[in-house]
Amino acid sequence: MSFAAKERVEVAVPVPLRQAFTYSVPLLLRERIVVGMRVLVPFGPRKVAGIVTAIDQEIVGETRKLRDVVAVLDEEPVFPSELIGFLREAADYYLHPVGEVLRAASPALSKDAIKNLRADGSLSENESLKGASVATQKTRFVHLTKKDFADIKLSARQRDVLSVLTERGTLSMEDLRLAVRNPLPLVKALVTKGLCEIEEREVLRDPYFREAVDRDTPPELHAPQAKAVATLIDALQKKEAKGFLLHGVTGSGKTEVYLHTIAEARAKGRGAILLVPEIALTPQLVSRFRARFGDGIAVLHSGLSDKERNQAWRSLRRGDVTLAVGARSAIFAPVKNLGVIVVDEEHDSSFKQEEGFRYNARDMALLRAHRASAICILGSATPSIETYHAAQNGRLTLLTLKERATPRALPRVEVVDLGRNRGTPSGHPLLSAPLHRAIENCLANQGQAILFLNRRGFSPSMRCDACNTVMNCPACAVALTEHRSARLLRCHYCDFSTPTTQACPACGALELMPIGVGTERIADVLATTFSGARVGRLDRDTATTGEGVEDVLRRMRRKEIDILVGTQMVAKGHDLPGVTLVGVLLADQSLAFPDFRASERTFQLLAQVSGRAGRGEEEGRVVLQTYQPDHSAVVCAKTHDYERFYEQELHDRRDLNYAPFARLVAVRVDAGDEGVAQRAAQTLAQVASKHPAVADGRIRLLGPAPATIPRIRGRYRFRMLLRGADRKLLRAVSVALVARIDEGLGQARASVDIDPVNML
Ligand SMILES: [Zn+2]
Ligand SMILES: [Zn+2]
Repeated sequence: MSFAAKERVEVAVPVPLRQAFTYSVPLLLRERIVVGMRVLVPFGPRKVAGIVTAIDQEIVGETRKLRDVVAVLDEEPVFPSELIGFLREAADYYLHPVGEVLRAASPALSKDAIKNLRADGSLSENESLKGASVATQKTRFVHLTKKDFADIKLSARQRDVLSVLTERGTLSMEDLRLAVRNPLPLVKALVTKGLCEIEEREVLRDPYFREAVDRDTPPELHAPQAKAVATLIDALQKKEAKGFLLHGVTGSGKTEVYLHTIAEARAKGRGAILLVPEIALTPQLVSRFRARFGDGIAVLHSGLSDKERNQAWRSLRRGDVTLAVGARSAIFAPVKNLGVIVVDEEHDSSFKQEEGFRYNARDMALLRAHRASAICILGSATPSIETYHAAQNGRLTLLTLKERATPRALPRVEVVDLGRNRGTPSGHPLLSAPLHRAIENCLANQGQAILFLNRRGFSPSMRCDACNTVMNCPACAVALTEHRSARLLRCHYCDFSTPTTQACPACGALELMPIGVGTERIADVLATTFSGARVGRLDRDTATTGEGVEDVLRRMRRKEIDILVGTQMVAKGHDLPGVTLVGVLLADQSLAFPDFRASERTFQLLAQVSGRAGRGEEEGRVVLQTYQPDHSAVVCAKTHDYERFYEQELHDRRDLNYAPFARLVAVRVDAGDEGVAQRAAQTLAQVASKHPAVADGRIRLLGPAPATIPRIRGRYRFRMLLRGADRKLLRAVSVALVARIDEGLGQARASVDIDPVNML
């Protein structure tokens, strides 16, 4: 078989089967068909649109009598081959159906392919993009109209422009500006001489681009930043597939390192992806990128319509836009000639997708960069233990920013032992005397305070004082949270809500008492205690029902809020220069989680939230309240000592044989009937136990047991864990389990989660 025969293609179809399907290619279509194109293929009695993932000898496995591809739906591949290769490997690693992985990578494209299919199976590019509802804006692009200009009189700077355009083809003015200073008059002169043309093209418009942002000039880097950037650019130029950990304390200027590196990549004609934990929480970061690079950025977020998403995809695919910014799924952006992937706040657990295709975008960033000969930068002030361990072992290159970019030192942290703290000025147990005085002080000096409490709502649960009944969700094994202003009791797991009642549903007594404290209640207490202070709130409730995150942050920056109370949403990287006091009301909440990463998460949260203090001119101060002042997460957060925390945590992980010393696979089972769920879990446990690696103990099987929250949305949940140091063996056992799950478990559902992050 010759190399270009194109006799057979492997096609990923959008079905939940863990394989791709092989088809033969009719002679007429062989000229056109390319990996990454959408095709129409027969599938059972139907015809479905799928994506070509491999051709001829790339196809693994035997092929018998094949059916023909019916039609090729694209003129050009919608998935670049680099991306296809990466997605195939990701599907294989996570043991997930490749068709579903491709669909997860580009939901709008696959819907589009089906929606716009005509009866004869044809679909034109124009067809799929028709419609005036796409929000776009015009951007100027420059291209050469002549190749030979040897005998034309030109200035040195005009020649610079021509050589950049010769080397790189059509460029947006924004990109040209990165290569040549102030290029517009030069381009205009070249247009007059008939050497170039300026054309306007539509690029997408979107809420992140509503407000104009002034362009900034790159600031001078301080020495550690410059050193990090030099190392990164060196690897970029050598096209080394290298991973880096950029470990910089809060406020040390990591973003500037990203900006410089990405600017360099773009100047060299290479594209970039920036992943952030939650795009809705990072409007400031997007603004900084726009200020540096202009509006030629694709911001991928859940508010995009299918059409806008589709258009962003095509702009990136064509190379009209060379930078994609977004949450975890932006790792699938079809960025052309990929040079850099940045994962900001790499320790954040939201990079893990917890439903359907359960991938970790942080890990996938390393994989994709490796395959694309790009560099990958994982940035954090509090790296995950696994990432720091990889840097210690040389699998990642460690770059460190030890000092804050501004002359301000890290804030002073004071620990208050709640166990010894009797009597408070306000009478509220979570406003200790030291914190109370710190707030008074802060307000007296016109400072702003952030108070952090990881519980939204008014009180986390209600209990009847007469019969001790706790108000639980009817569908989940968790207590209902009181939301007083909405007059509702709400379940934070399934969103069930019921009007707040006075009477106990079990005994009728009018003695329902709130237990515990949420952000809503603390905000009430603060408004009463510090009368005159303007109290704001930032949590999932205010972000979704009240004003948006950006509005709260804007009011904060305008100093229209004196005290901001919030959940971990307040900890996420916001730069609020007026904040001089951070109070952590109860550091112990996240320590109580039944998860081996509980102290790691607590340390990260404490360090991140403390880092919000003192980013402006004034010195910052942190008051950290806890019942466990000697816990290593608390002690190390107090001294801003990441390395010490890491050493201690690594020691514990080694003792308990957890990551990074062993890898995990979580198997979860649920069913509407408890017995059904339990039997299905036992069936899977038997399959695992029969595997030689489990039988001889090289892989440990833990469970099955009821999950930490044994019932959610009316479904009973069981889980078990596989643990072992040998990745291949772990994979072999997982493959056996997946095969059994694919056979069906009756009314029960089951899933396999490779490298789980959430242990619940
Ligand atoms: Zn009662
Ligand atoms: Zn519920």
